[in-house]
Amino acid sequence: MVSKPWKVVITDCDHGFIDEEKQEFDRIGAELILAQVKEEEEVIQVCKEADGLINQYAPLTRRVLENLPKCKVVARYGVGLDPVNLGAATDLGIIVANVPDYCIDEVADQTIALILTLVRKTVFFDRKIRSGQWDFRQGRPIHQFKGKTMGLIGSGRIGLEVAKRIFPFGVRVIAFDPYIEKAGEEIELTDLDTVLKESDFISIHCSLNESTRHLIGEKEFKKMEKKPLLINTSRGPIIDEKALTEALKEGLISGAGLDVLEKEPPDSQNPLLKMENVILSPHVGFYSEESIHELKRRAAEIVSSVLLGKWPKSLVNPEVMGKTRASISIS
Ligand code: NAD
Repeated sequence: MVSKPWKVVITDCDHGFIDEEKQEFDRIGAELILAQVKEEEEVIQVCKEADGLINQYAPLTRRVLENLPKCKVVARYGVGLDPVNLGAATDLGIIVANVPDYCIDEVADQTIALILTLVRKTVFFDRKIRSGQWDFRQGRPIHQFKGKTMGLIGSGRIGLEVAKRIFPFGVRVIAFDPYIEKAGEEIELTDLDTVLKESDFISIHCSLNESTRHLIGEKEFKKMEKKPLLINTSRGPIIDEKALTEALKEGLISGAGLDVLEKEPPDSQNPLLKMENVILSPHVGFYSEESIHELKRRAAEIVSSVLLGKWPKSLVNPEVMGKTRASISIS
């Protein structure tokens, strides 16, 4: 049997199929291994001969990366880079790239679905009807959607798509995003306190980083004058979940729609699971059949492009240029 020139390992993947990846690595003649490892030591063992990795959640810590002498590239399924020690990868000459924009429409749709579900109380009524109760008055009060104000926290790719979808309902959109100068057509850029004070719905779309961890906590809930609905399809730790639970109990907000939680999956004792005005989805915002195929194809293409001597478009550690282990031309 002819040995293949490269070995690529998928450290872990919960998608249930790897057809896109297989197709891409067959095309370039690379061997592909699906590992499904979780612990540092296992990652080292299974990846030590790998030229490239595709990673979902497995820890690519400094110790792990230091023990992968052949690894030239790490592609991350998705946007976030939480499992990868970027500094270590750069020090070691390993190229890291992500797939930043494969599910913008899906997350925006999920956000609108959560808002409308809360506003029209569809899940609430469905639960009632299934327990034998048919009475629209149980859902009181329901307020008109039109004419309300939605506040975005973070107005990047997804925030903008959410705004586009909500305008036709006659909803005004304001946004807090300290890193941009213009938020997009018809979106009023403002400060966080104004978003907290004026919004009927607050939707979180900033990335998770040290400045956004627990950005919404006890102090912020107290500033929410309109008892808004709070939607989070971004990352769980942006909201202090203890403070959220208290805010819901005290009626500081009217309800919450959460695709993401501080701990996923949540403990069965998590009080949010028992609250009627909370609706949850299992971090599904990214997913549609189309988006997941795109994600997998693009992650595989990142690795194959590096192995074939090209820089990936979505390089996240440009400092690696000049010291990469891969054979890549400058242009
Ligand atoms: P993006 O980078 O285009 O936008 C993020 C915006 O957040 C940027 O405009 C940035 O300036 C802003 N921001 C950063 N720090 C901020 C702060 N302290 N306060 C307010 N705004 C701040 O990212 P995107 O593609 O719009 O994605 C947004 C987030 O959605 C991602 O970071 C990711 O966590 C989440 N996401 C979730 C799912 C899901 O399945 N639920 C899927 C994809 C992405």
